[in-house]
Amino acid sequence: MSESELLARHRAVLPNWLALYYDEPLEIVRAQGRRVTDSAGTTYLDFFAGILTNAIGYDIAEISDAIRSQVDSGVLHTSTLYLIRTQVELAEQIARLSGIPDAKVFFTNSGTEANETALMLATQYRRSNQVLAMRNSYHGRAFATIGITGNRGWSASSLSPVKVSYVQGGYRYRDAFRGLSDADYVRACADDLRDVLQTTTSGDVAALIAEPIQGVGGFNVPPDGLFAAFKEVLDEYGILLISDEVQTGWGRTGEHFWGIQAHGVIPDAMTFAKGLGNGLAIGGVVARGDLMDSLTANSISTFGGNPVSTAGAKATLDYLLSHDLQGNAAKQGARLLAGLRDVAERYDVVGDVRGKGLMIGVELVEPDGAPSPEAARLVLEETRARGLLVGKGGLHNNVIRLAPPMTLTDDETGEALEILRESVAAVQEARA
Ligand code: PLP
Repeated sequence: MSESELLARHRAVLPNWLALYYDEPLEIVRAQGRRVTDSAGTTYLDFFAGILTNAIGYDIAEISDAIRSQVDSGVLHTSTLYLIRTQVELAEQIARLSGIPDAKVFFTNSGTEANETALMLATQYRRSNQVLAMRNSYHGRAFATIGITGNRGWSASSLSPVKVSYVQGGYRYRDAFRGLSDADYVRACADDLRDVLQTTTSGDVAALIAEPIQGVGGFNVPPDGLFAAFKEVLDEYGILLISDEVQTGWGRTGEHFWGIQAHGVIPDAMTFAKGLGNGLAIGGVVARGDLMDSLTANSISTFGGNPVSTAGAKATLDYLLSHDLQGNAAKQGARLLAGLRDVAERYDVVGDVRGKGLMIGVELVEPDGAPSPEAARLVLEETRARGLLVGKGGLHNNVIRLAPPMTLTDDETGEALEILRESVAAVQEARA
């Protein structure tokens, strides 16, 4: 069956709102290292890594072996009502890495569920259903998380059980405080937070939930220290800070293991998913023990923390740490950022290049500086035609997102930079 036949069947039976990439979407049937192969036999360098899930890359023996040995035991899952050794060991490791005092971990199957759990914990703990979120944020697609997501393109439902107020600081390139110095920007956002609290809430807000670097929103990097300034305000009111590390965790930002650490603050809870499973479905919350244990009724996740996912995740985490992939993300990311800034100087279809580590956003613009979703669409197609898969996002769907596996090599970085340069040049030329 051809990819186009499969696409027709997909369209008939899957929801219209399930986003697909490319004019002719791919079916990936094989993968190795940082490369994937589609059913037509074409191989691509993968710079989106299954939306940042393949943190390490494909077909890694250590991870396959860990999963296989669990599968060989015959126990795919029996329920989380019984003890699971790898779940306990993984929780210990994540609690230790979190830096949160007396931390406890609850495992879920996705980032959405992790954020739903964190919101449930915070709202119960604070006895308030009011939440602060950032403009242009994305936190998932279930009832509460979709309701607080501050990016219209992804807010599929607006009937949320949570009352949300939005604060500035997410999308500096185009927000109300653009153009300010780092220090003035941080001050303006902290003043805005106080103003939003005082004018749109009753003050007894449960939590601020935020991505340290917005992912779906276009890899927007706020100045270091923004969340420290926010935390000062939050502490005055006893409001909790939830850091959504679904994209920024596991060392991807290069500088730190968790994105929030760039701000010198310890949050009350962090949520995680994506890269931890290197492709397996796993997510979770790591939180202060008293916050985690504040729920008194029994609860369960049938699959959260199951033996196969936790075995694979533990092997992934061990690999990440023992191969210093955070260090490699910093090194390759710096090269990519420098190379792309050079591209931006030469082609004015690129309005902004930003990022940290292996989370790099390239914002495409019209000649007058307005967002250009069409240029982003064309760059996506041009890069594919040259053998590179990249991501797309941003409030205006005009940002190319680069987030390759963190095992990326020097040669692959060079290859991707060359393809990106050629692709941007082709889009620029088509415009002239
Ligand atoms: N939080 C952030 C920051 C995300 O980027 C995403 C997904 O892209 C989610 C939460 C939701 O995670 P999932 O798609 O695993 O439910």
